[in-house]
Amino acid sequence: MKIHNTLTQQLEELIPLEGNRVRLYTCGPTVYNYAHIGNFRAYLFEDVLRRSIKYFGHDIIQVMNLTDVDDKTIAGAIKAGVPLDAFTRTFKTAFFEDLKTLNVEPAEHYPAATDHVPEMIVLIQKLLAKGHAYQSEDGSIYFSVSSFPAYGKLAHLDMAGLRPGARVQHDEYEKENVADFALWKAWDEKDGDVGWDAPWGRGRPGWHIECSAMATKFLGESFDLHTGGVDNIFPHHEDEIAQSEGASGKPFVRYWMHCAHLVVDGRKMSKSLGNFYTLRDLMSRGYTGREIRYVLMAGHYRQSLNFSFESLDGARSALQRLDEFQDRLGQVAAGSRGEGSVPDWADLAGKRFSAGLADDLNVSESLGALFDMVHAGNRAIDSRTLSSAEAGAVQALLARFDTVLGFLAKPADTVPAEALNLLESRQQARLTKNWAEADRVRNELALLGWVIQDTPQGPKLKRK
Ligand SMILES: [Zn+2]
Repeated sequence: MKIHNTLTQQLEELIPLEGNRVRLYTCGPTVYNYAHIGNFRAYLFEDVLRRSIKYFGHDIIQVMNLTDVDDKTIAGAIKAGVPLDAFTRTFKTAFFEDLKTLNVEPAEHYPAATDHVPEMIVLIQKLLAKGHAYQSEDGSIYFSVSSFPAYGKLAHLDMAGLRPGARVQHDEYEKENVADFALWKAWDEKDGDVGWDAPWGRGRPGWHIECSAMATKFLGESFDLHTGGVDNIFPHHEDEIAQSEGASGKPFVRYWMHCAHLVVDGRKMSKSLGNFYTLRDLMSRGYTGREIRYVLMAGHYRQSLNFSFESLDGARSALQRLDEFQDRLGQVAAGSRGEGSVPDWADLAGKRFSAGLADDLNVSESLGALFDMVHAGNRAIDSRTLSSAEAGAVQALLARFDTVLGFLAKPADTVPAEALNLLESRQQARLTKNWAEADRVRNELALLGWVIQDTPQGPKLKRK
């Protein structure tokens, strides 16, 4: 499996540092709001990456942090008039619900920053002891960029323009103003009752140190792979490298991968343009998590993704084609013992599917292989040249594809209570031989979109 490494700007073979297990750190959400579809684009890129790593036979340990203390979360809690942890809990819960909706495979660890402040303090102590950090007049602790000559290696910065001694307290800043950044922000009034006591005084950690401390705790001082969106490269990931390598003296991460932006109808997503969408906004317009997943993962992660409602409608018809094919395949495969081997066209598709993923997650190539296979498979079913055993083998191949794609399996149709009650009253009507009432209830169910199927286990409801 080859991946594009931001650090070297090369395609490289992914080889784990230790044994067969890939250790992956993915920067998670700042839980001050519902995550938007641009955020989810990155999380889906990481999901496809994680699933592909497993597809190619590696084990994985993935960590995704939750930033639950920073300027935005504190400001949000104060505005809402609730304690910080109560404020962030709402958005943590929503985040996990959204991941489930999008069928994102859970990471092994989701550490929250507020649970790891002692680890951050230890890391800052190390940096102070090694001369990489200093305390400013207001009590904050800063990383001294000039103490770390490799600074800028990830973002490929020209450090000639650095103004020594310049400092920023904000977590986000521009490349033009490379400056010493805050590891620890001394408490001030804006923080309200949020703060931790450190040997150098009360305050709270900066954003960057959160990730260095939690990544090191769960994955070690040196690990394989670190990802995020392109806007994380500078300063966030550059600063993570400086802090981690400054403290440990070891290489922090071997491979860095970054996914490009999402734009909406060709424009940057923003609230002021009215083209800003959370996952929930799209769901309330009647789109499913499965359709949204399809759109957000269908392009190449290093190309900017142009989101539009047409693309969601396109996903709906693409998924319909896939469902229809799988239904037909199921009919042909019925009764097969799964002993068959796949026909040549499916074998070829399987190889192309894998080759696409192995080529820096070229999902478009893999999807192309899938749809070519559907086309060939439909023709084989039409001409009755697909045996039942072969159909079973193609089903198994699709199931293997779906370990990465995560949208082929139809979500189980959950039957609402209203429909279940109607089904029950139809049964009662039939028991009392009230056929007119039984028919009336059946028609009512049909209007709700459900058909009754009589099975050996009794009547079941199926979506029309
Ligand atoms: Zn991070």
